[in-house]
Amino acid sequence: MEYQFIHLEFNIMEISNQNKNVIIKINQEEYLHYHEHFDTWVCVCGNYPKSDDGFWQCDINGDHVRPTFGEIPHDLGHCGRCGRFFKLSDQKVLGFNFSPKSWRN
Ligand SMILES: [Zn+2]
Repeated sequence: MEYQFIHLEFNIMEISNQNKNVIIKINQEEYLHYHEHFDTWVCVCGNYPKSDDGFWQCDINGDHVRPTFGEIPHDLGHCGRCGRFFKLSDQKVLGFNFSPKSWRN
């Protein structure tokens, strides 16, 4: 997975390091936006669920979880392009996880 350089200017709430996995929680209002024509949520970086990078279902730290394929509504998503993770029910960005753990392990 490749990441583009992102200029970060955020009010950081918390940086945790879990097994060398750096998770940045931000205290800043950032939201996904809804694209009416394509009927999809779009990340702040422009990525969307059906792109090659996609959105991943994740936990509260942005680590990937086994996809539910809609059986159980899952509220947390991770952007495969910029590393932001967010809550889908209110579209709020919670933070960044640049090296999310995979659910496959
Ligand atoms: Zn993104």
